[in-house]
Amino acid sequence: MEDKEPEPMDDLRDFLEKKVKEAQDKPPAPPPPPAEPFSRRHPRLVLALQLGVIAAAAVYVYSALPAIRGAAQGPQQLRLGAYGADRGTEQCIGNLWKTAAGMETSGNPSCPVCGLPYKTDGGKIACPAPDKHGLTELYFQPRTGVVARGPQ
Ligand SMILES: [Zn+2]
Repeated sequence: MEDKEPEPMDDLRDFLEKKVKEAQDKPPAPPPPPAEPFSRRHPRLVLALQLGVIAAAAVYVYSALPAIRGAAQGPQQLRLGAYGADRGTEQCIGNLWKTAAGMETSGNPSCPVCGLPYKTDGGKIACPAPDKHGLTELYFQPRTGVVARGPQ
């Protein structure tokens, strides 16, 4: 019992004590200073990139302006058929839109050119004399709009 063999743990203890002593005698080197940020190393490059992004965004917004303007204005009157309309025809078409929207409430709405009241058939409202406008057909139809057809 007296001469017991050195235990393997003693070797480990000696090894660790030696390492601790070494570490105390020679402290580890301080960590290297952190690298400067990229923006400080290349300020002009970063500024150029920022300006480039701003310029690209400005070009994109400018190119999208017509779509933005169109969305802000809301739906336009839709008209099918002949487009070379004179002043009286434009007024007649406007009357058809107003009548269809229920805005023309004073008396019987009539065509400004021939003076006759509009013909209504169901939801359809037609000019009584489209030939006075040089057209063969001029009417408002729900879900279609004003249709103006001229002689082909
Ligand atoms: Zn008319």
